Amino acid sequence: MTIQSFIPPQRTLMGPGPSDVSPRVLSALGRPTVGHLDPSFVGMMDEVKSLLQYAFKTNNTYTMAVSAPGSAGMEACFVNLLTPEDTVVVCRNGVFGARMIENVQRIGAKVIIVDCPWGRAVDPQALEDTLKQNPQAGFVAFVHAETSTGALSDAKTLCSIAKKYDCLTIVDAVTSLAGVELRVDDWGIDAIYSGSQKCLSCVPGLSPVSFSDKAAEVIKNRKLPVQSWFLDQSLVMEYWSGQGKRSYHHTAPVNSLYALHESLVMLQNEGLEQSWARHKAQHDKLSKGLRDLGLDYIVPEQERLPQLNSVYIPKGIDDVKVRQYLLNEYNLEIGAGLGQFAGEAWRIGLMGYAARSENVALCLAALKDALTQ
Ligand SMILES: *Cc1c(COP(=O)(O)O)cnc(C)c1O
Repeated sequence: MTIQSFIPPQRTLMGPGPSDVSPRVLSALGRPTVGHLDPSFVGMMDEVKSLLQYAFKTNNTYTMAVSAPGSAGMEACFVNLLTPEDTVVVCRNGVFGARMIENVQRIGAKVIIVDCPWGRAVDPQALEDTLKQNPQAGFVAFVHAETSTGALSDAKTLCSIAKKYDCLTIVDAVTSLAGVELRVDDWGIDAIYSGSQKCLSCVPGLSPVSFSDKAAEVIKNRKLPVQSWFLDQSLVMEYWSGQGKRSYHHTAPVNSLYALHESLVMLQNEGLEQSWARHKAQHDKLSKGLRDLGLDYIVPEQERLPQLNSVYIPKGIDDVKVRQYLLNEYNLEIGAGLGQFAGEAWRIGLMGYAARSENVALCLAALKDALTQ
């Protein structure tokens, strides 16, 4: 038997990511591969860098894309900034805060956990109380948009508290970038990472990151080498920013970077603030429709993420059957509950290219049909 080409089904992706990829991005992916040190490609990487600075609202020199998914961006931030001597306060209100804790523990640094209820924003007062009691802490880490529950934390306030206690901040913006207000420089974020496959409408596999001058200083001055050779930013930075002459570090995912470039050009053309507003407008439409279907949100209204809508599964409804029905009858993917909400919630994503009226209409009609069936 000869194995045939793989032709994937045409799905509408409205889960927690990957989200729908724009056709423009997909066609950029198919452009001819050039060498990763080709002058034309180096020029494109410079553009990716300035487009990422635009998306993050930062002037940070150390802004680039890690050649791996969001979790690698997370790991890059932790392994570069921390040594076993450090103490880190991590806020946990879902799955991804827990993943941050794992990173800190594997480095051998001390972790102090601020636990907040799942489905709620991180409580600024709880962070402040913890920092007051732990003056040795040098870092604060939290997830801006917790995709496992659909809760949005107040990154501006959390960062200002961290600054008050002389801590550097590490922020997970995998789902927040381009979907909700995010201002790296204004809010004083020191290390931030995101993902290509959520609100950027791009294919999975790249993780935009940015480091403040202060964070870059910490990385430059560390005595212990970074435990991961691949993620060592002092080596990668030379590759991304070596003035005119770049040296080989690893082979850049050339075509994936075309795709990221295209998605960021689209973001720039739409306008960052307009992209935030679009996500909110589509969320308002969807949440009204979900309410009409009798579905209740997990997260209180003022802490909701527009791009990730988590609702309780009504009593007597079979979670798996409904999601299978949506997939089989409508080619529509929504997300299952994660962690504490496994089997109890659905997570409906409105990310990037998926945050459009036709997607909202399809999702509401399909869910209505599925619930009736
Ligand atoms: C998706 C996600 C990640 C992990 O990204 P991967 O690309 O799956 O590695 C991390 N944090 C948050 C908040 C996410 O939504």
